[in-house]
Amino acid sequence: MKSSPPPAAEAGGDLDEARLRAALRRSAELIADYLRDVGELPVMPAVAPGEIAARLPAEAPRRAESMDVILDDFERLILPAVTHWNHPGFLAYFAISGSGPGIVGEALTAALNVNAMLWRTGPAATELEERVCDWLRRMVGLPEGFAGHINDTASMSTLVALAAARHGVPGLDARQRGLAGGPPLAVYCSEEAHSSVDKAVLTLGIGLDGLRRLPVDEAFRLRPEALERAVTADRREGRQPMAVVATAGTTSTTSVDPLEAVAAICRREGLWLHVDAAYAGPAAVCDELRPRFAGWERADSIVLNPHKWLFTPLDCSVLLLRRPERLKRAFSLVPDYLESPEVGVTNLMDFGPQLGRRFRALKLWMVIRAFGVDGLAARIRLHCEMARELASRIEADPRFELSAPAPFSLVCFRLRAAGGPEAEDRANQELLERVNSAGPVLLSHTRLRGRYVLRLAIGNLRTTRATVARAWELVEAAAADLEAPGAR
Ligand code: PLP
Repeated sequence: MKSSPPPAAEAGGDLDEARLRAALRRSAELIADYLRDVGELPVMPAVAPGEIAARLPAEAPRRAESMDVILDDFERLILPAVTHWNHPGFLAYFAISGSGPGIVGEALTAALNVNAMLWRTGPAATELEERVCDWLRRMVGLPEGFAGHINDTASMSTLVALAAARHGVPGLDARQRGLAGGPPLAVYCSEEAHSSVDKAVLTLGIGLDGLRRLPVDEAFRLRPEALERAVTADRREGRQPMAVVATAGTTSTTSVDPLEAVAAICRREGLWLHVDAAYAGPAAVCDELRPRFAGWERADSIVLNPHKWLFTPLDCSVLLLRRPERLKRAFSLVPDYLESPEVGVTNLMDFGPQLGRRFRALKLWMVIRAFGVDGLAARIRLHCEMARELASRIEADPRFELSAPAPFSLVCFRLRAAGGPEAEDRANQELLERVNSAGPVLLSHTRLRGRYVLRLAIGNLRTTRATVARAWELVEAAAADLEAPGAR
């Protein structure tokens, strides 16, 4: 039987070699131009919600289109509507960087299109992942005995770490029977812990009622005595304490919970200790910052996000586990069609709910090699220095106050304003809007003890002292406008 020929190259579809090379060349130029010029653009695009969707056709094209037309539209429709996380003035949330080596790694990952669900479907992906996770463990000074793998996000890493913790609860067989009939479980964290902990407990069937968000001290760190009291009270009331999530680098202020004390309580009480070091963990690459993490070596699991402060493009979250077999027992499930003959190998599908796994280790490997451990440490150190300089400046300025200590690269501050706390909150909110609408920088906010606070987070490779100075000029100008008579 004669098979019909593939559609002609001119008709579009996949790219023949010549058109693939042309599209890659154009994309490479586009990427290099973008990274060179991104600092000239406003960090946030001037678009209203719905505006982009309104410019896009409602239906997919019936006929194939050329890559040139598609890339023209990328430049015309998409780029102008992007919030530029790779902008030096991106100082909001936790600023991140898609570095050159990481971008190359990501492109090659797409080209290989490996699905590392089993060792045999991705030998290089599996073994490189194990090796770079172990590099990272050594880089941050953690002892042997932690095995690592890579997830998409810290939210997923925390979810699976707590699933591993749940798997070891005595008298509970959540894997087989679910939670019905078992004791209600309790998970502990500080009131400053990230919302991914709430999402993990609600996904795992523990329920938000089982999450104890405990009070913090004056520097926003979990109070160990509150943890002890909560565990005792829960046991008394028939709840089964399961795990503690301590944070090293909280989202609002980058405070570090007292890890030694928390680890000691976990050991005594038989609780799983998960350390969320998603943002700050990479700082332990710097010798002088490593002591801040003392105690994390006693954790059962630790999450660090190279996509936050290790210059690796989204997404890349490393989960280090002391007892990976617990996670494996929680999730391993091998249907006939996924049986494989190799014995004693790692099959990444065993370590979480998802089957498919991207080859994320490639970009991390390239980033670590291209910067070198010393180069990574130097960038992180510089970010912390810039944050310290800004914090000192704010501390010396009577118009403003520092709202929290700045142990890493985030500075939390607020404008002092007359008229009581609520008026002050409104003034700070207005100040943020004015600064962000100027274009060159983007800051974000949080609430600390109920008060509205501004956050300036340094984490992008292209951010310089000049960027931070410019941000501060804009803050000062907005504050002066607000203080002008009749401004509000
Ligand atoms: N943990 C902390 C301390 C964070 O700051 C964040 C996000 O900023 C997360 C977890 C969640 O990270 P991801 O987006 O990788 O899930």
